[in-house]
Amino acid sequence: MDELIMLRYGELSTKGKNKRDFINLLGCNVKHALKKFSNLTYDIKYDHIYIHLNGEKYDDVSKRLLDVSGIYSFSKVYRLPIDLDVLKQEALKLALAENKKTFKVHTKRPNKSFPIHSEEINRLIAGEILRNSDYKVDVHNPELMINITVREDYIYLFTDETLAAGGYPLGSGGKSLMMLSGGIDSPVAAYLMMKRGIKIECIHFASPPYTNEAVITKIKDLLKKLTAYQKEIKLFIVPFTKLQEEIYHHVNISYAITIMRRMMYRIASRVAGKRKDLVIANGESLGQVASQTLKSISVIEKVSTLPVIRPLAIFDKVDIIKIARKIDTYDISIRPYEDCCTIFEVKNPTTAPNEEKAIEYEQLFDFEKLIDDCVNNLEVLTITDEDEDDLL
Ligand code: ATP
Ligand code: MG
Repeated sequence: MDELIMLRYGELSTKGKNKRDFINLLGCNVKHALKKFSNLTYDIKYDHIYIHLNGEKYDDVSKRLLDVSGIYSFSKVYRLPIDLDVLKQEALKLALAENKKTFKVHTKRPNKSFPIHSEEINRLIAGEILRNSDYKVDVHNPELMINITVREDYIYLFTDETLAAGGYPLGSGGKSLMMLSGGIDSPVAAYLMMKRGIKIECIHFASPPYTNEAVITKIKDLLKKLTAYQKEIKLFIVPFTKLQEEIYHHVNISYAITIMRRMMYRIASRVAGKRKDLVIANGESLGQVASQTLKSISVIEKVSTLPVIRPLAIFDKVDIIKIARKIDTYDISIRPYEDCCTIFEVKNPTTAPNEEKAIEYEQLFDFEKLIDDCVNNLEVLTITDEDEDDLL
C-alpha cells in the first residue's frame, strides 16, 4: 500500500484548453514548494496531482501545500491494488485508527469494468467495519467519511479533505508592481494578488532620514514571509525624500497627501513600464483614510498610466487583519515605524480634492525632474526564500 497526497484543482477545472498549461505550472510550483522533502515523487495527471510520500511525513508536507495557490483541496490517500479483500482490510484499519463513533462509506467507480457496483462496495466495506468495531453508521452526519475511488489501475482510499489556498497557480496571470508600505494592508494585498496567480515585484517609497533603516528591515522581513508564495521577490526602493520635501514646501498642506500619492503613482507607473508589469497594485481600502475616499482615489489615480488593482478595496479592517495573521505578517506590520506618509504631520488632509487644484499645485515646482531622479536612483534588492541568515 502506498501513501500519497492527492491534490484537487478547483477553479482550474473551468479553464478549458489552457488547463494542461495551468496544471504543468501548478506542478512546477508544487515541486518547488516541497523541494526540501527529497523523497517525494510526483504523478501529474489531468484530474489530480498525486504526491507519493515515500516515507516523508504527511503533516510536514501538507503544511507547505497550504501556501501553494491553485490547489483547491487535498487529501491523504492510500493507494491499493484492485483487490476487494485488501480494501476491506485497509478500510477497517483506517476506521480503527481514527477512533470515532459514526461513519459512512462513499464509493465512486470511474472504472466501469470493475464488476461490483458502488452501492455494493459501500455495503461490503460498511459491513466489515460494523462487524469488527463499535462504529455505527450515520448517513447524514458521520464523524468519519470513508471515501473509495475505484480507478483503472488502483483503488484509492481516503477520509478527509483539507481546503487549501484556492485561486490560480502563481505565474498564470502575469506580473504586477505592488506598492508595499510597512503597514498591515499592503502585504495582505500582495498575498491576494499572488493567490490569484499574479506574480509581484514591489516598490517602496523611503524618505531617509525621516524614515530609518528599521523600515527597510521591516519591509524585507515582510517580503521574506511572502516568499512562502513566490520564491523570489524583487524590491525597488525609491529615494523619495527630496520630492516629498518639495511637496511640503510648495503645496497647500491640505493637498500634500493627494499630491504625494499622485507622485507615487507617477513613479510606480514609470517603474512598472520599465519592468513590463501589467498593473500596479496596492493595499488601499475604501474610506480607510483621507486619501482613500472615492473622490481622492479618482483624483490620485488619474496620473497612473496603468490599471490599478486594489484587492482590499471593499474589505473591513478586521477581515484584513485575519488574513495578515494567517499569513504571519501581522506581528511584523505592527512593529512601530515611521512611514513616509506620517512624517509630515497633516492635520486636515482633504477628503474631496479637486483635480484642477491638484494640477495647479503641481505646477509650482519642477516635479518631472524630481521624478526622473527617483526613477534613476532606485535601489534594487532581491528577496529569496533561501538566504534566511541575511535578515536575522
Ligand atoms: P498599509 O497598511 O498597507 O500601510 P494604510 O492603511 O496605512 O496601508 P496608506 O498609508 O494610505 O494606507 O497607504 C495605502 C497604500 O499605499 C498602501 O497599502 C500601500 O500599498 C501604498 N503605500 C503607502 N505608503 C507607501 C510607501 N511608503 N511605499 C510604498 N507603498 C506605499
Ligand atoms: Mg501605511
